[in-house]
Amino acid sequence: MLTCTKVYHDVPFAHRQHLHDGHCSFVHGHNWDIAISFACREPDSNGFVVDFGKLGFIKDWITEHLDHACVFSESDPLLNTLVSAAPEAWKVYTVRSCSCEGLAAHLFEVFDEIVRRHTDGRVWVEYVEISEDKKNRARFSK
Ligand SMILES: [Zn+2]
Repeated sequence: MLTCTKVYHDVPFAHRQHLHDGHCSFVHGHNWDIAISFACREPDSNGFVVDFGKLGFIKDWITEHLDHACVFSESDPLLNTLVSAAPEAWKVYTVRSCSCEGLAAHLFEVFDEIVRRHTDGRVWVEYVEISEDKKNRARFSK
């Protein structure tokens, strides 16, 4: 198996850990790093797992859904109230869990599906690692 990794640095978005007993229950933002590891059995004609210059479909997805968004968990009891302020106050993106771990799992499923579709199944995502700052990160793989 061959792998390569692309990192999208400093993607600004906010989240709210509504069950947290500390300040993470308040809406707050990070400049997230999103690392995506791609894997294949056979490289393309260039010898690449993926062409790093032709991953615009991933950048476009990040820009559309996460850039300057507020990410909330589906189970957030304030979800309807928070969503009601969109789109004037913020761009909302809802996931099962907006923890670092939950985001890694969610983004794995999103990117794995997109990458398989764009490569006719030749390439899949090995893992997604997401960092909310220089100290804290989570990784999801299957
Ligand atoms: Zn946070």
